[in-house]
Amino acid sequence: AAKQEGLTCFKFFNPELRQVLERDLLIEQGLRLCIENQELFVYYQPKVHVAEHKLYGVEALLRWKHPQLGFVSPAAFIPIAEEAGMIHALGDWVLESVCQQLRRWDEEGIEVGTASMNVSLKQLEHMDYKDRVLSTLERYSIHPSRLELEITESIAMCDQEHILHTLNELHEQGLKLSMDDFGTGYASLSYITLYPLNTIKIDRTFVEATTVSDQIKLIDMIISMTHQLGLEVIAEGVETVEQMEYLQARQCVLMQGYLFSKPLPANEFIIWLHQYEAQGQQATANP
Ligand code: C2E
Ligand code: MG
Ligand code: MG
Ligand code: MG
Repeated sequence: AAKQEGLTCFKFFNPELRQVLERDLLIEQGLRLCIENQELFVYYQPKVHVAEHKLYGVEALLRWKHPQLGFVSPAAFIPIAEEAGMIHALGDWVLESVCQQLRRWDEEGIEVGTASMNVSLKQLEHMDYKDRVLSTLERYSIHPSRLELEITESIAMCDQEHILHTLNELHEQGLKLSMDDFGTGYASLSYITLYPLNTIKIDRTFVEATTVSDQIKLIDMIISMTHQLGLEVIAEGVETVEQMEYLQARQCVLMQGYLFSKPLPANEFIIWLHQYEAQGQQATANP
């Protein structure tokens, strides 16, 4: 009876939860068709070297335009795709698009540095992930060192040994690896030395809090730790000049965030890049 009462409560008194569940169901159903129906896009967000006023690289971020829901945030659909086993198809689609885009930029003589893409640990658990990445790169004649994988910290639930093996092999082939959202997960410190990392990405929440004294100590600590370990460090979610100056004063010169540009479709990104480069030239012409 208690169970039935619970169900009744849920059905009649929690319309919000019900809406969420219905939305998740729509998302899950929609995911099955999104590739076929060409609803996916990759947006690119610049990573800049602030001191040199130069583009350092780009991060590829997946976008999905659902026929009824409009643009759905990857933060909402990636976990559902992981759960429903569809993350492999999505991940392959992103890999293919990014390589295709890099090839196109190469042909047009546009230098964008390293392109990074986010990968779920579920993808890395797959036995032939490494071969799929390497063969796709080869098909587009892109050197592995131009691709970076961004992983998040929550690896505890996964087949760590296999993931580690895959990452080491990819690293040996020249692929770059960065730890995304650093500082938000748990047991993060032990992962730093475990993985063949090139870069640590300081999570936006720390960058946001550069005016709060406790958080400042944390961000300072993360930056000096990466320097001591000989890793690159990049700050994500930089939105204000104050944040930029704070980071730069601490020798964290690689940054990404709305202050520079939001993620953009490839063609708009190139327009942004031309403007950014022109600004740099202007600055050196009139110091
Ligand atoms: P992330 O990899 O940490 O990406 C950074 C997120 O912060 C992006 O959200 C980006 O649009 C946003 N962002 C960038 N600069 C700023 C800023 O200055 N202020 C604020 N408030 N936000 C900023 P997005 O694109 O919605 O992606 C959310 C997350 O979804 C990503 O976090 C990543 O974990 C995941 N994701 C995105 N694309 C993929 C993908 O292709 N595969 C996988 N597995 N995950 C993906
Ligand atoms: Mg990322
Ligand atoms: Mg991040
Ligand atoms: Mg994230």
